[in-house]
Amino acid sequence: MVAPQYRSRSKKRKKVKVPGGATVTHYKKKKPSKHVCGRCGKPLTGVPNKIPSELKKLSKTEKIPKRPYAGVLCTECTDKLFRYRTRFEAKNNYPEYTDLEIRRDLTIERYLPLNWWDNLSNKE
Ligand SMILES: [Zn+2]
Repeated sequence: MVAPQYRSRSKKRKKVKVPGGATVTHYKKKKPSKHVCGRCGKPLTGVPNKIPSELKKLSKTEKIPKRPYAGVLCTECTDKLFRYRTRFEAKNNYPEYTDLEIRRDLTIERYLPLNWWDNLSNKE
């Protein structure tokens, strides 16, 4: 009987003919779960979910998209984050936007740098 770890049907099987002539079953390693956005939980695009030994063979550009917050936030949440920050900058730096009403969103501010608020006041 096969070892207990191979009795599970969740691992992929492949029948392989070995040089001795016998047909043996090869078991594939389980795939890790998909990477998800830290804010909304949607699956991230452009980030592969392979086992570490296969991930090592990929180049840097194949592992992660080339943009800020890639591999952490989805494109929608990244867009919201930059719009949020820009609105605060506009309110602090331009007199015509001083009465702009902005609700604070802590789910977005979590991903801004710790001293982002200080940077706003320095520009004045
Ligand atoms: Zn998201």
